[in-house]
Amino acid sequence: MDLRYSPEDDSFRAEAREWLTDQLTGEFAIVRGRGGPGDEHSLFDERLAWERALGAARWTCLSFPHEYGGRDATLLQQVIFYEEYARAGGPGRIGIIGEGLIGPTILHFGTEEQKRRFLPKIASGEDVWCQGYSEPDAGSDLANVQTRAERDGDEWVITGQKIWTSLAHWADWCFVLCRTDRDAPRHRGISYLLVPMRQPGIEIRPIVQLTGTSEFNEVFFDGARTAVDDVLGDVNGGWKVAMVGQQLSFENELVDITETAKKTWRSTDPVTRQRIAGAWIGLRIMRYNALRSLTSMARGDITPETAIHKLYWANFHQQLGELAMDVLGPDAEVVPSGPYELSPAQRLFLYTRADTIYGGSDQIQRNIIGERALGLPSEPKVTA
Ligand SMILES: Cc1cc2nc3c(=O)[nH]c(=O)nc-3n(C[C@H](O)[C@H](O)[C@H](O)COP(=O)(O)OP(=O)(O)OC[C@H]3O[C@@H](n4cnc5c(N)ncnc54)[C@H](O)[C@@H]3O)c2cc1C
Repeated sequence: MDLRYSPEDDSFRAEAREWLTDQLTGEFAIVRGRGGPGDEHSLFDERLAWERALGAARWTCLSFPHEYGGRDATLLQQVIFYEEYARAGGPGRIGIIGEGLIGPTILHFGTEEQKRRFLPKIASGEDVWCQGYSEPDAGSDLANVQTRAERDGDEWVITGQKIWTSLAHWADWCFVLCRTDRDAPRHRGISYLLVPMRQPGIEIRPIVQLTGTSEFNEVFFDGARTAVDDVLGDVNGGWKVAMVGQQLSFENELVDITETAKKTWRSTDPVTRQRIAGAWIGLRIMRYNALRSLTSMARGDITPETAIHKLYWANFHQQLGELAMDVLGPDAEVVPSGPYELSPAQRLFLYTRADTIYGGSDQIQRNIIGERALGLPSEPKVTA
């Protein structure tokens, strides 16, 4: 990949920067810098309005083709947009699962009818999506999903439990991995259903997290229904669909940490200064890792770079959370009496505990690197 910016890329950057700066210092100033890790609960209505304004100006789903609401943007333009978004203090995106996970999956596996029906509503911010993969006994071992779907005329009837379902309480739709053939081997017999969330057969129970808020949920399906055609890919071919996959920038958090340090004696403490410099270097390495991973994706290669990138950024971000606490010193351990309202640095620290779990735990990423990059023997697989 040629990493130099073309004149078109430079003018794309200027257009994105101008739009974002205008909006985030004007009508949408209230959401600037909000809704990030541990702050996802805040300003839902305002952030949904932001999502829709982004959609109306075609600043969501940049990679989608024009006819489905996107811009047909190149990978480099997407990187440029996310850099500008972070620079302008763009808020945590409510539509992230639609844009980052289900949208690309529909593009790849969907029928033309499914693309026309679902993608424009993801791009416009009309439909919010959540991901129904994990279950109490199926996390890393995802092929063990037990939620089942049975045909009843023109519909699938779904029964079972999902867990850790981010944003389910806001979602209009969920993509749900279901067992549709109980007699088939584990990886077969699973289908990828698109299920409307607002119906009587679905109960959502928030899980209160360390941050005191609830970003994810338990979701119980008890006779929930979806149309028989709302399967992505082949019936019983959901495993292949689920294996496609996911990321943002931590630069602003480091700026906040540095500014906090400057206000205390820590700005002259050599160890703190070294750690801040180390974090700055880490961010640059992360960027090159990301570009390397994008390059292999652009070539259509499935390489270990993505696993290396995930492992690197998750650990980097956890260490950044620890640095934020150390810079705060004893203040890090104090919250105001009254409601459990944490500071951004405290939220960062607590939320980043999850970074090495979601999107593939560290151990699983190391398995992938070991097997695919280093050629180590495969982990024994359960075939039953
Ligand atoms: C913030 C957050 C948001 C999430 N959002 C969603 C969501 O929206 N939708 C959804 O479906 N899921 C979501 N998840 C769930 C996430 O995908 C799972 O937590 C993850 O897949 C790990 O599964 P598990 O929690 O069941 O842990 P387990 O799979 O039980 O793993 C427990 C531990 O054992 C290790 N381990 C497991 N297997 C192996 C192995 N073969 N070799 C070595 N070590 C192993 C793991 O690395 C981990 O340390 C979210 C999780 C978090 C933390």
